[in-house]
Amino acid sequence: MTSAELRSLFLKFFEERQHTIVPSSSLIPADDPTLLFTNAGMVQFKDVFLGREKRPYVRAASAQRCVRAGGKHNDLENVGYTARHHTFFEMLGNFSFGDYFKREAIHYAWEFLTGVLKLPTERLWVTVFDQDKEAESIWLKEIGVDPARFARIGSKDNFWSMGDTGPCGPCTEIFYDHGEGIPGGPPGSPDADGDRYIEIWNLVFMQYDRASDGTLSPLPKPSVDTGMGLERIAAVVQGVHSNYDIDLFRALLKAAADIAQVENTDNSSLRVLADHIRSCAFLITDGVLPSNEGRGYVLRRIIRRAIRHGYKLGVRDTFFYRLVAPLCAQMGDAYPELVAARPMVEQVLKKEEERFAETLEQGMKVLETHLKGMSGKTIPGDTVFLLYDTYGFPVDLTADFAREHGLVLDMEGFERAMEEQRERARAASHFGVDYSHDVHLDIRCDFTGYTNSREETRVA
Ligand code: ATP
Ligand code: MG
Ligand code: MG
Ligand code: MG
Repeated sequence: MTSAELRSLFLKFFEERQHTIVPSSSLIPADDPTLLFTNAGMVQFKDVFLGREKRPYVRAASAQRCVRAGGKHNDLENVGYTARHHTFFEMLGNFSFGDYFKREAIHYAWEFLTGVLKLPTERLWVTVFDQDKEAESIWLKEIGVDPARFARIGSKDNFWSMGDTGPCGPCTEIFYDHGEGIPGGPPGSPDADGDRYIEIWNLVFMQYDRASDGTLSPLPKPSVDTGMGLERIAAVVQGVHSNYDIDLFRALLKAAADIAQVENTDNSSLRVLADHIRSCAFLITDGVLPSNEGRGYVLRRIIRRAIRHGYKLGVRDTFFYRLVAPLCAQMGDAYPELVAARPMVEQVLKKEEERFAETLEQGMKVLETHLKGMSGKTIPGDTVFLLYDTYGFPVDLTADFAREHGLVLDMEGFERAMEEQRERARAASHFGVDYSHDVHLDIRCDFTGYTNSREETRVA
């Protein structure tokens, strides 16, 4: 079954159960400054959950394009390293707005997985929020899940929220065991973060609205929000472990390998390219342009990161835009807007690449020279800053390079260098030179991703 067929099958299943099929919304959340990008299927229904908006239906299903490359849900650092994370992916979801609740949501999900897709039950694992006795009893008593493949988990994983504020609630997650030999422990175990037991579907019981001070107030009506990654379930159905081995990604990997003239597609840089072309092309289609702040800066960071991986593979011409055509071939039927935007997308990517090409080469030389002369394991803050300020290397790009070489970044030193630059700019402005618009000075926009990459860097 292709991923396109799987998408249709999911929507049809819920349509037959009185769900209205709602098209994917844009990656730019409508009127929602709290959110960087649409990161889940529920985003376009946020106000419906909150009771602020009425729709002519109480049940909906969608295949929503999502980007997780900044903000609360940021998977940028995982791409290329795990079998299951993308910056861009499609989330299949069914929703109830004050209509059905836990019982039906769980039964529907189980029926789809075991009845329609015929997945063997002994491969499926379930987790619930440890205080949710109701969900627990539905799974154990009604569905009959084996308690040996069932875990109660705390709020870190089993209390879902869209962002720091907004709709949230306890959730129950369904995992697929990809089998022995793959590193990773079962859900709830200390090494659950591996790739053996992969979360495929999250059912959220939307019950609260979180305010900015953290207090929870009940929603007008308990609701349901579910999300299943199309690429993850496609991997299961197609009998492969990694998302990057599904039909759609194989085609993109092949296209990237052809451009880079490499034989073996099992390569993390190729995976990064196959992943990043999707987020970049769809973000541009939805109206984001590379810039030095906010959403545009996240896009710029993803593009530059992709280009750096191309460079690493030995590509020296502009190349990234050439992946738009193979992407359209894979996803154009489901997303005609992508096909319509194709010339614009290619142009934007090409321009951004040309702009970065010169400083990339120089910056890489700085890094490589540095690497040779280095004794410790830390790239000094001054170097990180020089790369950022003079060569246009977003910090996460340098962190990505560092991780490949088993190094870490001196982020405190970087911040000091940044602060000194600000001081100099302030002092200089007394003499009539205005540095306040210097593009490299504004890192505020980068805060979420930047904090994240810093944490990742320390772990690495
Ligand atoms: P994980 O724990 O594996 O990172 P998650 O709990 O963060 O996943 P949710 O926020 O529950 O994910 O999103 C709902 C579903 O969307 C997941 O069950 C998964 O199938 C899919 N999904 C989440 N993040 C990604 C991603 N970065 N790439 C691909 N699919 C994803
Ligand atoms: Mg996650
Ligand atoms: Mg999870
Ligand atoms: Mg989850």
